[in-house]
Amino acid sequence: MPIWRPYTPHYAGAPPVPKIVRAQGSYLYAEDGRAFWDGVCAWWVTIHGHSHPFIAEAIAKQAKTLDQVLFADFTHPAAEILTEKLTRLTGLTWAFFSDDGSTAVEVALKVAIQYFYNRGEKRHRILALEGAYHGDTFGAMSVSARSTFTAPYKDYLFEVEWLPFPSPENEAALRSVLESLRGRRDIAAFIGEPLLQGTAGMRMYAAHFWDDIARAVRAAGALIIADEVFTGFGRTGTLFAIQQCEEKPDILCLAKGLTGGFLPMGLTLVREEVFSAFFSPEREKVLYHGHSYTGNPIASAAAVANLTLWEHPQTQEQLQMLVRYQRQLAEQWNAIHPTAPARQLGLVLAIDLPSTEKGYFAAHRTRLKAYALERGVFLRPLGSVAYILPALSSQPSELERAVSLIDKYLQALPEEERS
Ligand SMILES: *Cc1c(COP(=O)(O)O)cnc(C)c1O
Repeated sequence: MPIWRPYTPHYAGAPPVPKIVRAQGSYLYAEDGRAFWDGVCAWWVTIHGHSHPFIAEAIAKQAKTLDQVLFADFTHPAAEILTEKLTRLTGLTWAFFSDDGSTAVEVALKVAIQYFYNRGEKRHRILALEGAYHGDTFGAMSVSARSTFTAPYKDYLFEVEWLPFPSPENEAALRSVLESLRGRRDIAAFIGEPLLQGTAGMRMYAAHFWDDIARAVRAAGALIIADEVFTGFGRTGTLFAIQQCEEKPDILCLAKGLTGGFLPMGLTLVREEVFSAFFSPEREKVLYHGHSYTGNPIASAAAVANLTLWEHPQTQEQLQMLVRYQRQLAEQWNAIHPTAPARQLGLVLAIDLPSTEKGYFAAHRTRLKAYALERGVFLRPLGSVAYILPALSSQPSELERAVSLIDKYLQALPEEERS
């Protein structure tokens, strides 16, 4: 099939990929009868489980009622209910709709830059965290770490100032950089993933580091953008990661799990004060951004259904049960695998596989994926970082099985690769 798949090398002799015809709960079902437990939540989007009937129903109902309407000139109930729910949950009062995580980030960056433009202030610098990943469009790539992903475009990306990743080892370096922000008048915004950098290899950091960064950024008069495209919707153990931090963002990006994993949709939520710079009849102050499908009613209905499920106490109970289980599995793993340390935050259990190669292209990525797939589990390691991200439909026994597969994979490695 001449289908050009994302992030995938195409070459003669590349292994064929399974054709998935159905998915239910935590399982993907292939045309040839195989079933795979999904330990990746599709591409980090599935929340309550695949083909969840409540969300599927909401989508069907919406599709038969109102499919699409031009969002610049009209509004509709699903978008209004969604906005009402999210503004109540986040305290951010205005919602801008787009299509996915990258566009939610683009909008956040454009809003931050234009916020100062509209106020007649010259600020052009953007800060980001080392190792960041914020998407694949040009603005989003610019605020992402320079890597193989971005190499062909590097001359076209705008410059960013990188803050050291807030690990305990980097604490002193980070403090001195934050100290140096004092008195700066050229910074427009800082963008970061609170508590957990996903694509960077499930790198976790303590909430107080987010707070320290946010305070320094705010003291320099700049805006704080939280990219919760990955961390949102329970991944870190709370609905949003930012709930575990004291310092709240001025701008929040949501996508991935927003519709429960059913349909693409991005949202950029902003604080009243940020919006006020755009509240004007002057044409120069308008945010000129929009996509054909902006505010799509069907995606909005899916997002409303997702949030409705989050209002059920059983959702919270299931989340907390799985979080406890992941924590326990990480502790048990660490007690017997000194050369392959595990870490856990919320639903995410990540294991650093012993490897001389580091980064996204380490061989474990393809080897462990193939090993697990043959045994009915879908894992997609980030280089030498194996991780398990379960949907809320998962059972403890399935988490255990995925961890034990990683263990068996390690045991099957040649001796010299095991440490
Ligand atoms: C995936 C991701 C994005 C990009 O989202 P897309 O929907 O893939 O465009 C942005 N930020 C973070 C943190 C992500 O994990």
